[in-house]
Amino acid sequence: MGKENKKQEFQAEVQQLLDIVINSLYTDKEIFIRELVSNAADALEKLKHTELTGNKISDPDLELKIVIDTDEENKTITITDHGIGMTEDELIENLGTIAHSGSKKFVKSISESEQKETNLIGQFGVGFYSAFMVSDHVSVSTKSWKEKASSHKWESDGKTGYEITNTENQERGTCIIIKLLDEHEEFSKEQKVKEVLESYSSFVPYPIILNGERVNNIEALWMKSKSEISDEDYNEFYKFAAKAFDEPRYRLHFSADAPLMINSLLFVPNENPEKLGFGQTDPGVALYCNKVLIDGQPKGLLPDWLRFLKGVIDSEDLPLNISRETMQDSALIRKLNRLITKRFIKLLDRESSSNNDEYTTFYDQFRNFIKEGVITDTDHRQDLSKLLRFESSMIDEGKLTSLDDYLTRMKESQDKIYFQISSDRESIESAPYLEAFKARGIEVLFLYEAIDEYLVGNLPSYEEKELVSIDRADLELEQIENNKKGLDDPSMLSLCEWMKETLGEKVAKVKSSTRLINSPAAALIPGGTMSPQMKQMMKQMNPDFSGSENVEIELNPNHELIQKLESSREDQPELAKMIAEQITDNALLSAGLLDKSKGMVDRVHNIMLKSLS
Ligand code: ADP
Ligand code: MG
Repeated sequence: MGKENKKQEFQAEVQQLLDIVINSLYTDKEIFIRELVSNAADALEKLKHTELTGNKISDPDLELKIVIDTDEENKTITITDHGIGMTEDELIENLGTIAHSGSKKFVKSISESEQKETNLIGQFGVGFYSAFMVSDHVSVSTKSWKEKASSHKWESDGKTGYEITNTENQERGTCIIIKLLDEHEEFSKEQKVKEVLESYSSFVPYPIILNGERVNNIEALWMKSKSEISDEDYNEFYKFAAKAFDEPRYRLHFSADAPLMINSLLFVPNENPEKLGFGQTDPGVALYCNKVLIDGQPKGLLPDWLRFLKGVIDSEDLPLNISRETMQDSALIRKLNRLITKRFIKLLDRESSSNNDEYTTFYDQFRNFIKEGVITDTDHRQDLSKLLRFESSMIDEGKLTSLDDYLTRMKESQDKIYFQISSDRESIESAPYLEAFKARGIEVLFLYEAIDEYLVGNLPSYEEKELVSIDRADLELEQIENNKKGLDDPSMLSLCEWMKETLGEKVAKVKSSTRLINSPAAALIPGGTMSPQMKQMMKQMNPDFSGSENVEIELNPNHELIQKLESSREDQPELAKMIAEQITDNALLSAGLLDKSKGMVDRVHNIMLKSLS
């Protein structure tokens, strides 16, 4: 075969990854041991599953264990497993390319950023290459589980590429020999390696034998009772299961006998990798059947928005040979899904009331998932919306309120929940919409994110109170006392008529306002049509999209500018026209609906000129 004895190059991304891994990423060199042990454990797990689902495997009598040998004299460390092994093609695919798109994104973003996120590396499957932090010669001898598979050796210095040769007399599984660089020879010392294994690998569910002696005790932590488990055990297990380096934020250890046999142990990580721009994370809760791994990253086991969870769900009721394809159709999986999701939402709800500060930091990291859940998960929408938090007009900047708390502060006559979406607090406070609500003592929720548009679009009401944007044209607000002498109704009527004529097709309607307090005018959107934020988004996607056709302009009869406009439109028709246009543009600008500002600048210059002469 042509592949034999030929030096092959790494895929460009692998090369980049190697540079990052070798030069900067891990400050803790010792974690390469954890990475290789975890690969060995994965390989054993896969073998067990392959066999249990009725496949005939080669060397069926080999013990499922991980053997580590150190050799101080030759400065090597060797890690052997009798797991699933690799064929020649798999060697090339797994150790010469990065197939996983998440890892590609990871490499890209990390090589572009200054900040090296060491604690995220494990989540992106770049584990194997960590061996090159301590070595410039790694060999991987391997034989696949498939009967009559041939065996091969992969060798590399981690710099110039790799070479694959045929080997003989190899047992099923993989043997990795690492020739240590002088400055890292400590990893050929038994004591050192033992320490590393004790701190990272105590939960590996297979015997680990170091120089002939067993160093771990096997535990499926999720099957034990809570009283037997310490916080340290939980945290260590999290690090093992999530390949993480941080401490988990929350954990849910939950067992049930009915309606399903479930033992599950779930964790919320400390940080949200999606927030750091690494793209969508893969689901991180593994599915087990009585301690046998069925699928490490099952899709459809939990709702998509729960993809940030890490851990294990174990159910004895599952058939071992459930395949990825049939998983989503399985009634059992659906039951598991609902049960665990409900439990988890309950946990968050409880945590949010028992420790609000802690919950707020969680929310700061993970709110995109909660919002995504409200938008996409109709079954859990109402429960999930309890977990939402927003800034509001009645609380200090930076502090958050829940919808339930909002309800307690509602005025007696109030039957709606009011909100406004804009990029930040300042633009909501300076726009003309909030003042009507301030004056009436009505609280308004402030929403700042693009996703919020979809959020309120999918959450028309909460506890039977309609959610309404404060820039809607058809809001009915109660009359309030006001001792300013405003323009009377007939004058307003004729001013509005004149103004609509002046503006032409630019707006749909001009009318007198009962809600405005300090602003001369506001642009409002009829209910049931596209909100200004949505229009802005449409405009970003399509520059020709205008979107202001159905806008209504409301004028404040108590505002001096409006009064003066009315009194001067006979004497100074030209100036009045410009001012009417300018008032409209200002209102559209506040609403984020102004299309072109060029004409506006010229107009302002003309207005200034007229007022000076
Ligand atoms: P990950 O473990 O996250 O997939 P790694 O870089 O650690 O990423 O390993 C890459 C791939 O190489 C693994 O997915 C696996 O297919 C293969 N591999 C690594 N070590 C072994 C092993 N000991 N036995 C079988 N396959 C292995
Ligand atoms: Mg790995």
